[in-house]
Amino acid sequence: MASDDIIQNILSGKLQRPELLSAVTCSGAHVGRPMPVYNPATGEVLCTVPMLNAEEAGGRIDLASKAWQAWKVWSASARAALLHRFADLINANQEDLAHIMTAEQGKVLAEARGEVAHGARYVRWYAEEARRVYGEVLPREQAGRRFFVVREPIGVCAAITPWNFPCSTVLRKIAPALAAGCTVLVKPASQTPLSALVLAVLAREAGLPHGVLQVLPGPSAELGPLLSSHPQIRCLSFTGSTAVGKELMRACATTVKRLSLELGGHAPFIVFDDADLDAAVQGVLACKFRNSGQTCVCANRLLVQEKVLADFMGRLMQAVQQLQVGNGFAPGMDLGPLIDETAICKVEDHITDALARGAELVCGGVRLAGEGHFFAPTVLTRATADMLVAREETFGPVLPVFSFQNEAQAIHMANSTAYGLAAYFYSRDVNRIQRVAEALAFGMVGINTGRMSSEAAPFGGIKESGFGREGSRHGMDEYLEIKSICMGGLE
Ligand code: NAP
Repeated sequence: MASDDIIQNILSGKLQRPELLSAVTCSGAHVGRPMPVYNPATGEVLCTVPMLNAEEAGGRIDLASKAWQAWKVWSASARAALLHRFADLINANQEDLAHIMTAEQGKVLAEARGEVAHGARYVRWYAEEARRVYGEVLPREQAGRRFFVVREPIGVCAAITPWNFPCSTVLRKIAPALAAGCTVLVKPASQTPLSALVLAVLAREAGLPHGVLQVLPGPSAELGPLLSSHPQIRCLSFTGSTAVGKELMRACATTVKRLSLELGGHAPFIVFDDADLDAAVQGVLACKFRNSGQTCVCANRLLVQEKVLADFMGRLMQAVQQLQVGNGFAPGMDLGPLIDETAICKVEDHITDALARGAELVCGGVRLAGEGHFFAPTVLTRATADMLVAREETFGPVLPVFSFQNEAQAIHMANSTAYGLAAYFYSRDVNRIQRVAEALAFGMVGINTGRMSSEAAPFGGIKESGFGREGSRHGMDEYLEIKSICMGGLE
């Protein structure tokens, strides 16, 4: 079967608007080098999309610069109205976007639907924020002159996004950039370009002018250096691994670009002896096994207080053993496949290393037989600080369990990482809650919850998890410059 027929076959009858997909694949009228998109549930090629080389992408940057001249002077209310229409279209096409995401990324359909809705809420939020880019009039500090402070769009922006949230990571960047009056070029992960491409089609339908938002699928080896060093690009927002983030920092230095980095994490999840243990089990499931453990904020280390370890593990194992792994389109599944073979190998390496260093395998530990990249939910006890799972992101459904004696030890263990994205803990003691929340060195702390992402709250990390924030009013700052205007000669 030709690859473009395969995706039609997988999604046949499921897409309300199949033309959204055919508009972005090579089966449409596009010419260009075809880039294959794989289905992680089977390993098959789903379809191909036309990829750009550096020269073609350079032409797109010129187009974005020209488009910016007109876009930056749109009124805030006109930009807001357009973003509201865009959010409406995302919501109206939620089913199609979710099906396309499950096909290219693998996550279970219910999660894909949730991600689309979550992404649309960012667009809505920034439609509202577009109207609140306030300046300042400073108190008179000298006779005859006044200062005004205005905030202006930074210019042409680039966004580089990962494969694990192919819809929401794109929307969290483009919505504030567009609201601020910037034009944006998005380079999506090569594994999952379809969601971003279809979102751009919907943005055009919403009335976004030509060139204001462009999606550039293509190899990072060619497009990465271009986007990070091109003088016309004034801001680069990146979500991905810490290693690539560090490379981009170096590359962006040549043109002193604004950078926003949402990088890797190594979240501790602490269960204190006064916690509601059943609630903590639910928190672990939501936090660790969502998207098959392929999230930057997922629990990488479960820290349980000695006194409740046996009780908690009994409850946890009962719940983990009920998790269903399979094709994301099949009803009742909790975990879909991992993204590719490399991801499976990393998970296997981490488990092998942990077992060699004394961990005990309580469940899972193996990939599932048959096609695709499925891995059984895995729990390891007796984890220790010398294991890979204690230092590196596993990015898979592996939960290493550490034990601790007291609060000070838990905080020390939790903070013993170069990362600083998310941390979680469960406790019912209000004084402990206050102490621990303040002591954890992370950009986001979840208390008695395993999920804390919201368009209304700033999302981002500290230390080697990056800098800059997405969501909330702070998310706009990444795309705005401050200009001070001094008016002299006044009577
Ligand atoms: P990745 O390898 O860093 O890739 C992310 C993006 O960067 C992809 O679009 C990739 O393009 C591109 N890229 C790779 N090398 C590049 C280079 N040298 N120059 C420019 N661009 C380059 O990360 P990933 O494996 O896709 O994603 C997983 C990582 O993202 C994890 O570390 C996870 O924690 C992190 N993440 C962080 C957040 C957050 O908000 N903090 C959210 C989600 C994920 P190609 O696909 O074409 O190579």
